Parts: sequence; structure tokens; C-alpha cells
Amino acid sequence: MRGLAVLALGLAALGALPEPPSRSAADPGPPPPERVVRLADPPTPGDRTVDVVPGGVARWAGEGIALCGDARETWKPVGGACYYPVDLGQAEGALAIFREGPAGRETAALRVLPAPYAEENLEVDPRKVRLSRKDRRRVERERRTVTPLFSLRTHPVFSFPLAPPLANAPPPRNFGTRRVFNEEPRTPHGGADYRARTGTPVLAADAGLVVLAASHFFAGRSVYVDHGGGLLTMYMHLSRIDVKPGQHVARGTQVGLSGATGRVTGPHLHFGIRWRGARVDPSLLLGDPAALPSP
Ligand SMILES: [Zn+2]
Repeated sequence: MRGLAVLALGLAALGALPEPPSRSAADPGPPPPERVVRLADPPTPGDRTVDVVPGGVARWAGEGIALCGDARETWKPVGGACYYPVDLGQAEGALAIFREGPAGRETAALRVLPAPYAEENLEVDPRKVRLSRKDRRRVERERRTVTPLFSLRTHPVFSFPLAPPLANAPPPRNFGTRRVFNEEPRTPHGGADYRARTGTPVLAADAGLVVLAASHFFAGRSVYVDHGGGLLTMYMHLSRIDVKPGQHVARGTQVGLSGATGRVTGPHLHFGIRWRGARVDPSLLLGDPAALPSP
């Protein structure tokens, strides 16, 4: 996209509203405000472009690609392709991306489209929309526990597509839904919800290290697995946790049983993914990677 020399990657617009309760309230909250980044290499006219919605992922495959990057960081390709996750809260605009291989450095413009997600209006008990001071403090504490996990950049041990978190998984629902509780807008839904009876085995989407297993206010009993390369999967509202922090899991390892813990209206599995900090639609990483948009 032309003429966009300076772009803000900030997510301040997400605000700090308290997370409402619901079957879809499990996301630990908006990411911390990020500093404004001035692009060293703004997209130039004639660059390749790729259009991605917030919560989407671009893929740029090629022979002999050695390095991928954007204005903030660089990373290694996965299975020969560079992946560029875009946070659910990313504002419209263009981001400069690049890759390096036999042809040297190639740049492209990643154009962030408007969020296409539906609005969901829910009527709930007002006390579940406005938290007590004690609950707010608890939520803040838990957010401080979780947020550093989004900055982990360990050695990647995953491959695509990821394995679904339930055997015979039904289609996931609700990613990105703009939720309005009692006419008050709240943060968009940052994960995918699967209908699941309490007691259904919940499976790790790939190999990784359990970095958090805890009982949190919104997420209930929840497990966070670091797969390296900045990819983190989250399993929430569990009735039982079967793993411990520091434990290595394989693809398909049972991490717990689904349930209805935390702030929910019914049993389900909330499956969330953060990739290099960005909340992305899990269904994209469960499908054919070649179907992702490419420059
Ligand atoms: Zn959910």
C-alpha cells in the first residue's frame, strides 16, 4: 500500500474493559499496549501485497528461505514457509514484511482488512459484567502471570496442520465475535469454542512444553503449551488438569478434561492460540496451510 511510511502496531484501542462472563469469555484479555513501531522498510510502490483479516495468518513459501521478518522481529520459516500472524485487534493498514533466501531480501506489504466478525448481543446478570474490586484485582494478577508467556520465543517443535484439541472435534465457533453484554461492548472473542460434554479428553495440538496450568477467574482450569517459535496454545474451562508446568507433551497428549470452570454459561472447550503475541483464528492452523493467503 502506498504512502504509509509510518504505521502503528499499537493495540491501545482494545482498552482495558473487564472481561465479561460467557461461554466465550476465556481469553485472558487484550494484549498489553505495544509501543508504536516506525517501519524501517515501509512498503514501496510495486511491492507484492497480501490481504489478511485481523486474526488471520499470511503464508509466504519459497525454496531455500532462511529468514522471515517484519518491523518488530525476525524468525525462522516453518516447513519452508514464512508465516505472518495478524492480531485480532490489529487496526486496518499496511505492514511491511520480508523474507530472505537465495534471491536476497524480498519485501511485501501485508494489508490488514477490516475485521469481518459478527457482533453477538448477550443479556447476562449485570454483576457478571461489572466485576467487584476483588475480582478485578484477581484478574489483573492473572493477566500479569499470563502476559509474559506471549513473549516466549523458544525452539519451534511444531508442524502444520496442528492436531485438533478434541477427538472427533466439531467445527470451532465464535472466533473474533464482537461481544456486547447488556449493550456494553467487550473485548472480541480471542479463541475458538468447541461444544464438548464435561469430561471430554482435551488433547495437545502439537508437541510442546506446559508453561502454565492454573485455575483463573475467566479461563477456569486452564493449560498453556509453548510449542516454540512463539506459538502458544491454550485450553480453558477444563474440569480437570492432567499435566504440570515444566512437563513436555507430545502431539495428542491428554492435557485434561473439558468442563465449565471459570466464567461460562455452559460446558465447552475454549481453544486459543497466540502466535508471536497475536491472537489468531485456531481453525486456520488446523487446516491446509497452503490455503492461507500469500503475497
Ligand atoms: Zn471461548
